[in-house]
Amino acid sequence: MSEHELDGLRRKLDEINLQLLQLLNRRATLVQEIGEIKKKQGINKFDPEREQDMLNQLVKQNQGPFDDQTVRYLFKQIFKASLDLQIDEQKKTLLVSRKEQAENTVINLGGTHIGNGTPHVIAGPCSVESEEQVFAVARALKEQGLTLMRGGAFKPRTSPYDFQGLGEEGLKILRRAADEFGLQVISEIVNPADMEMAERYVDVIQIGARNMQNFELLKAAGSVRTPVLLKRGLSATIEEFLFAAEYIVSRGNSQVMLCERGIRTYEKWTRNTLDISAVPILKNESHLPVFVDITHSTGRRDILLPCAKAALAAGADGIMLEVHPNPAVALSDAKQQIDIPSFETFMKDLRASNLLGNGNL
Ligand code: PEP
Ligand code: MN
Repeated sequence: MSEHELDGLRRKLDEINLQLLQLLNRRATLVQEIGEIKKKQGINKFDPEREQDMLNQLVKQNQGPFDDQTVRYLFKQIFKASLDLQIDEQKKTLLVSRKEQAENTVINLGGTHIGNGTPHVIAGPCSVESEEQVFAVARALKEQGLTLMRGGAFKPRTSPYDFQGLGEEGLKILRRAADEFGLQVISEIVNPADMEMAERYVDVIQIGARNMQNFELLKAAGSVRTPVLLKRGLSATIEEFLFAAEYIVSRGNSQVMLCERGIRTYEKWTRNTLDISAVPILKNESHLPVFVDITHSTGRRDILLPCAKAALAAGADGIMLEVHPNPAVALSDAKQQIDIPSFETFMKDLRASNLLGNGNL
């Protein structure tokens, strides 16, 4: 074959490539139109029977040189790409998506701005146990120049025989300590009926990992105007996590912070597996602020500092950790909370890493 002939064939191939491209895009446009109609009619976009029919028709008409199996494979890829296009479209419409809102959501917690690029530290006991305990932690936070205190009053415990929290009385203690030391309070609510009551005491409503897909609770959190810290479910995918946030935002509460807190894997040397990759993915996919709970994700005091650094280096808007005046006698999570001197050392080391920025000096 001469050089000339080869060039001619290649030109023909280029032409066919272009035609294929145009045809594929025309096909995709049609699929989108069909998708719109299905959306209006509330019909599922993926129709396996229709896909089988199309593949059978194509195989029937196939005259080679591709064999039937290859034809099926090639067209399945085309069908899948078209379906993915519709799924991408759906993603675009999520209110929590970056595609919907390019700029970061910034949440103002009593003058502390979350999500504006300066990371913040949330610290406090696992559970509220007494006024004395909470005041001791609040004082330590204040001394460190921190403004965000956590503490659980409604505790979702694995065993029904374990300490369940002080309930509303616990929220009152948190409020008193916060008012005394000029702090903002974050506390978990587990019952949709308690949302309005909680608004009287807390500055941020936490929705815990076990309740990430408690849809009635999410809807209730969406109907109040207090900011929400939503934790990732024990085995939730990032997509499920974002859909959970969408439940809250779509009900009218746009002030949602996401919190990666580790997921369940086979690994036993940590309590959960900290999915650090979730941080940049969430930041790319969503405009909501992202925290990392370094205590519940690891369950280990000895690796808090490197995990905090990793979270901040990955772009987190802040970290959360548990601090207790005397962890050995704590009524929950006694093994993982750190005492006040360790917290002071932790803060000193974290500041020395220069990952915290000016907000926490
Ligand atoms: C908590 O932060 O108090 C807590 C119970 O954590 P999680 O919901 O992530 O397990
Ligand atoms: Mn805890």
